[in-house]
Amino acid sequence: MDEFEKRLAKYIGVKHAVATVNGTSALHVALLVAGVRPDDEVLVSNLSFIAPANAIRYVGAWPVFIDAEKDHWQMDVSKVRVFLEKHCRMYKKNLYDKVTAKRVKAIIPVHILGHPCDMDPLLELARKYNLVVIEDAAESLGAKYKDRMVGQLGDLACFSFNGNKILTTGGGGMIVTNNTRLADYARYLTTQAKDNPVEYIHNEIGYNYRLTNIQAAIGCAQLEKIEEFIAAKRQIAEKYSRAFLKIQGLTPMAEAPWAESTYWLYTILIDSKKFGIGSRRLMLKLGKQGIESRPLWTPLSRNRMYLKSRKMISGISDSLHADSLSIPSSADTAAGALQRVIETVWHCQKRKSLRGLLSFSY
Ligand SMILES: *Cc1c(COP(=O)(O)O)cnc(C)c1O
Repeated sequence: MDEFEKRLAKYIGVKHAVATVNGTSALHVALLVAGVRPDDEVLVSNLSFIAPANAIRYVGAWPVFIDAEKDHWQMDVSKVRVFLEKHCRMYKKNLYDKVTAKRVKAIIPVHILGHPCDMDPLLELARKYNLVVIEDAAESLGAKYKDRMVGQLGDLACFSFNGNKILTTGGGGMIVTNNTRLADYARYLTTQAKDNPVEYIHNEIGYNYRLTNIQAAIGCAQLEKIEEFIAAKRQIAEKYSRAFLKIQGLTPMAEAPWAESTYWLYTILIDSKKFGIGSRRLMLKLGKQGIESRPLWTPLSRNRMYLKSRKMISGISDSLHADSLSIPSSADTAAGALQRVIETVWHCQKRKSLRGLLSFSY
């Protein structure tokens, strides 16, 4: 396990890595070692897999959902800024939400779909307001932000090696950081907070969250191929994007000027008016041809347990959820299979002229 941690830390360019049973437990422990306490507030991306929001609740804190920006679908830093500047105030080096009077302690930017969030302005805000930044990099191992690896940008970062991620150990996760104190504390908490391993003395409530050595061995083998996996994903994305740019009503996944995306899960937006049918109809039609696709997540603030949460949203996550479709893009997808997806999508389009023709013939 030490070897996997060492190699991953080296790959990311950080001093420490602590392997965990999965990405969700990594987030849970990262929040604990970051000093997030019950009743604190933590800002988190609204368009994301649910794990980071739940991890915030595991420590008794409350999520503040931040909308996605429309171009790259990541946490909208301008909304973070408005929340911190307009809705919070500093008091004795801590930041408090003016409405709830709760302490605001941390930000979890989620780098979704292999693409990094715009980190520099976010880190600047975090420094200004004394907030801890925990990157949720579960979907974006190997992605770069301005030539810097995702995972080395915040105070802490979490990865997942779940079966659907770019590097998998069957199940697994990792906390990475440059801060020795935080790394030691994370290692302590993930191994049952054992203070005296002979007498079994524990001074804190710990967790059985460590990765097994068998999984770590798989991780080492997978890490050797990571550049191959990323190259394959980027090639798939390039093929898809080139084709979909030419189809009216489709918007291919974009890469920000400051980003090098791994295109972990290739996703398109469908403008139902221009394309002729919407994303859900397209999903059904693709399904009938044996092509699996699915929309991006329901915005987290729409889930029953988060309906009353604080949020900074203006409908972007909702429209991305409504219009998106992620399509097959695993690294081993054959060229022929890609071509088939492209052609099937093309055939699903309801062309204006054809529709006009049909209505005429009625
Ligand atoms: C997969 C994922 C996680 C959780 O990882 P697990 O290993 O499944 O617990 C956390 N955050 C995001 C954004 C993810 O996609």
